[in-house]
Amino acid sequence: MTGLVYKSTGSWYTVKTDLGHTYECRIKGKFRIKGIKSTNPIAVGDVVDFEIETSNNQETGIINNIHDRTNYIVRKSVNLSKQTHIIAANLDQVFLMITINNPPTLTSFIDRFLVTANAYSIKTVLLFNKIDVYDEETLLEVKYLAHIYRKIGYECIGVSAKTGKNIEKVKALMHDKVSMFSGHSGVGKSTLVNAIEPTLNIKTKEISTQHMQGQHTTTFAEMFDLSFGAKIIDTPGIKGFGVVDMDKEEVGDYFPEIFKLKQDCKFNNCLHVQEPKCAVKKALDNDEIAFSRYRSYMQIIEGEDEHYRTDNWDN
Ligand code: GDP
Ligand code: ZN
Repeated sequence: MTGLVYKSTGSWYTVKTDLGHTYECRIKGKFRIKGIKSTNPIAVGDVVDFEIETSNNQETGIINNIHDRTNYIVRKSVNLSKQTHIIAANLDQVFLMITINNPPTLTSFIDRFLVTANAYSIKTVLLFNKIDVYDEETLLEVKYLAHIYRKIGYECIGVSAKTGKNIEKVKALMHDKVSMFSGHSGVGKSTLVNAIEPTLNIKTKEISTQHMQGQHTTTFAEMFDLSFGAKIIDTPGIKGFGVVDMDKEEVGDYFPEIFKLKQDCKFNNCLHVQEPKCAVKKALDNDEIAFSRYRSYMQIIEGEDEHYRTDNWDN
């Protein structure tokens, strides 16, 4: 049997087959995936093979294989062991919800998020929410930001979870895919999910950071089937993506506009800071690269963005 992991609570995994049958499964003995050191060998979104075992007239499954992942997101636990916890696997896309105010979403946050998602090989769609309450000036800001991010290849949609504006567009993008919603607390994630599927009562509310301190994990991700043929992964208690460790030289590769230009720099190890004949600096001078993007890039390579770490992003 082959199925998709919908839920994991430590030792038991809820696995659903293509035919829609659900089995509670366990792992037999030691079972580790090569190359990944994590506290959990299997995560929500994994495709697994299992055998059915019957005892006391109850059918349960024994997982004996995990299919290769297209991607996965992790969280480092805050305690000293620094073990990695896999939050979810095989995501098709993440919707990053952004508000200009109440709460403000800074471009440094957006850019750090995008870098991390790129490093994880996860597609991001930007949703600018609460457009129903913005004045003209704020709407211009949305337009300006959408322009910046569209230009470098990101899909951007202005939405209102409250009035339902452009929700159909979001649903169309979600069709046949596994999606996740991210963004600061208060941007409207629960409201949007509720507008998309009113009967689904998921708790996208984050728990307080205090509860998270010093614990491996207190909450578990869960996948849900939506009525229009879409899946979402809810990650209660997880504020953003974990931090990806990367070298300075690597950071530019996850800024699409920098990556595109780097071959034109004089030095092939150019960090685009002070080096002569740098194509990125030249593009910046010519307004071909947004200053806010370059500033975010500099913050990341200079390591000045500790408080924007994606696992501690509650404004
Ligand atoms: P979450 O923390 O991201 O899940 O945010 P919530 O869904 O709880 O929303 C936070 C607040 O913003 C609530 O008071 C919502 O009613 C409000 N809100 C969410 N979406 C919209 C929107 O599109 N327009 C307006 N005006 N308010 C919204
Ligand atoms: Zn350069």
